Amino acid sequence: MSRSAGTRADPRSYDLDDLRERVLGERGGAVDDSIPQLARADAELCALALVLPDGTVRTSAQADAAFSVQSAVKPFLFALALLDTGGQALDRIGIEPTGESFDAIKLETGTGRPPNPMVNAGALLTASLVEGGDVAGRQERIVEGLSAFAAQDLEVDEDVAQSEHLLGDRNHALAHLMRAEGTLSVGADDAVAVYARACAVLVDARALAVMGATLACGGRNPVSGRRIVPPQVARDVVSVMATCGVYDGSGRWMRSVGVPAKSSVSGGIVLSAPDVLGAAVVSPPLDEQGTSVRGRIASEELSAELGLHVFASGGT
Ligand code: GLN
Repeated sequence: MSRSAGTRADPRSYDLDDLRERVLGERGGAVDDSIPQLARADAELCALALVLPDGTVRTSAQADAAFSVQSAVKPFLFALALLDTGGQALDRIGIEPTGESFDAIKLETGTGRPPNPMVNAGALLTASLVEGGDVAGRQERIVEGLSAFAAQDLEVDEDVAQSEHLLGDRNHALAHLMRAEGTLSVGADDAVAVYARACAVLVDARALAVMGATLACGGRNPVSGRRIVPPQVARDVVSVMATCGVYDGSGRWMRSVGVPAKSSVSGGIVLSAPDVLGAAVVSPPLDEQGTSVRGRIASEELSAELGLHVFASGGT
């Protein structure tokens, strides 16, 4: 199916609906059931979007279907934490891949820091480092910050936020563990409340692709034209997406797709190919690592057909 580098497709005319049709027949994976709202997700939903550095937005059918951002928020929480702490967040959190699942009850050996910002322990911490004073202030700043990345006003699904907060036992456990290690400085319940609400922000494939494109464009939003974070922050975030963004599937992802990305339990995946494009794919059925099955296949195809793999040479 894939084209060789020699017949690379043009993202401006690339047929996203054709790609969507090709992956729709894939029946593998299972919808997440950690909270009732996610368990009710439409397993047939499948949408793609891509955004180019000049602000061109291309979408497939269903690119305006809303879903909660879930873990695809983690790169942006990391970005906001880096911005608000002037880079000091890097002293508070590791950046090494874990080889374990997203909610593993595990901290960095010797330091008690979260292993990286793309697993739950790390995102609980980065969300706590975003400025705002109290819980409500941090929550507001996060929604504002995410909206700036998306170039549109994003909203929170309050039911999802509440379920995540109430049912996220492993997140509560991680927050308490970080309190015990002295690495989380806000209250454990407050940390979970802020992270849970960040996961409950509603996006669609289009908005998520704009967010990914902002990172791909060095922190300048190509749609609004606004600088959201400095180039160094965008580079740091995309680097960690490349090594840790797909949890214990990150190595295989980089081999087969070759584009820094972040997966999520709602089935959304955000991709950032520096200076080339940002993209998003969503389809709820997930594989063992919590990655959208159709999303992975579509990302592999997109990468092969547009020549996005960072480690593929042009040679034959
Ligand atoms: N809200 C989910 C959780 O913390 C997000 C996890 C994910 O998308 N992998 O459990």
